[in-house]
Amino acid sequence: MHHIYCPYCEEMREEEEYSYTGEAHIERPKDPASIADEAWGDYLFFRANPRGIHHEMWYHTAGCRRYFNATRDTHSYQIHETYKMGELPAVTAPTKAALVADKAKAAPAKDKAKRKTKAKAKVTPEEQQGDAS
Ligand SMILES: [Zn+2]
Repeated sequence: MHHIYCPYCEEMREEEEYSYTGEAHIERPKDPASIADEAWGDYLFFRANPRGIHHEMWYHTAGCRRYFNATRDTHSYQIHETYKMGELPAVTAPTKAALVADKAKAAPAKDKAKRKTKAKAKVTPEEQQGDAS
């Protein structure tokens, strides 16, 4: 059984007391009438679905009945932190640029060359034409 820390009650409580209510930090457009339909649709329907660090809203249904945010790893289910509404998370996912830099550091140059050769062998002429367009 998981226990989640409620930042308002300041206690660890059983997971059953809470309800997950979706992705956190989604800002409603200031003037919905002035934005494009696509942007409005993105706001209403599209949410991140990362593997790893995710900021999400929870509701303490059987407790203080208040909303708060949590930073959870969607892969391990570990909750790194919970924080009150209006606060910013201390734990954030690494940026794409940081991930690419880490990968480049971790993989030795020789290994990289091998992978490139393998990848090239698998590409058919039709695929190469597709890439060029
Ligand atoms: Zn609470």
